[in-house]
Amino acid sequence: MKFPAPRRTARTILPLLLLAFAAFAHGAVAPPAIRLYVLDCGRLDLRDMRMFDDSGALDGKPGTMSVPCFLIRHPKGTLLWDTGLGDAVADHPGGIELAPGIRGTVRVKLVDQLKALGLKPADIDYLAFSHWHEDHTGNARLFGKATWILQRKELDAATGHAPPPFESLAPVAAWRTARKRIIDGDADVFGDGSVRILLMPGHTPGHQVLELRLPHAGTVLLAGDLYHSRGNREFRRVPRVNTDRAQTLASMRRFEAIAAREHARVVIPHDPRDIAALPRFPAWLD
Ligand SMILES: [Zn+2]
Repeated sequence: MKFPAPRRTARTILPLLLLAFAAFAHGAVAPPAIRLYVLDCGRLDLRDMRMFDDSGALDGKPGTMSVPCFLIRHPKGTLLWDTGLGDAVADHPGGIELAPGIRGTVRVKLVDQLKALGLKPADIDYLAFSHWHEDHTGNARLFGKATWILQRKELDAATGHAPPPFESLAPVAAWRTARKRIIDGDADVFGDGSVRILLMPGHTPGHQVLELRLPHAGTVLLAGDLYHSRGNREFRRVPRVNTDRAQTLASMRRFEAIAAREHARVVIPHDPRDIAALPRFPAWLD
């Protein structure tokens, strides 16, 4: 049988509108206003990409990788995620040879990009890294006033007797004196679920991914170096330089489960196509 449709009168609609407004005003509906800025923190040109795949598929193939930094502005503070190759590289217009066959170039300084947003390095409240490889820690020394959010496993590895390759304590020396929040596993940066650090080890012992829940763009996953390119994600390639193969594959499974469940936008920082697809600085994603 068919029920008669209820008549929508002012008497029935008004309380519903008031309820919706109350929920909205209370913050139950509106997520916090968060902005994601992608900053240009350099570029890597490699003669041979073999280190990024232990199956041999990339042997002898050259490649170019973007090196971004990410700035997240949240009502409770500003988080800088990764600090790039380092502004000192910008003083060499042709770039510098970081290792045999690996050239790093910085076109525009991080400090100048912050300035364009009205920020000084001392205005950054929180500093965190996907991991401590030197293409992610270059400018870390500028942020001694920030609270450093550090994954204990990464810290222990880097300060241990046999630090992972490509890690150096020189760029991150300020960790000793900076205010610190040491984390073990996942962490909710602002306490409201909108910006979460997810431990996904394998590339390094404390490698991590950043998950953002943005009001319009939805869930965004900054993959760190879990994947170095879209192709590496598609074929689940494990880089030769990773510290743990089994951990890497487990992290990939976890990452993909979250990406699928959240219908997330995945950003692979080292793939120039993923960076080009984001709003061009000083525009932002929200
Ligand atoms: Zn990297």
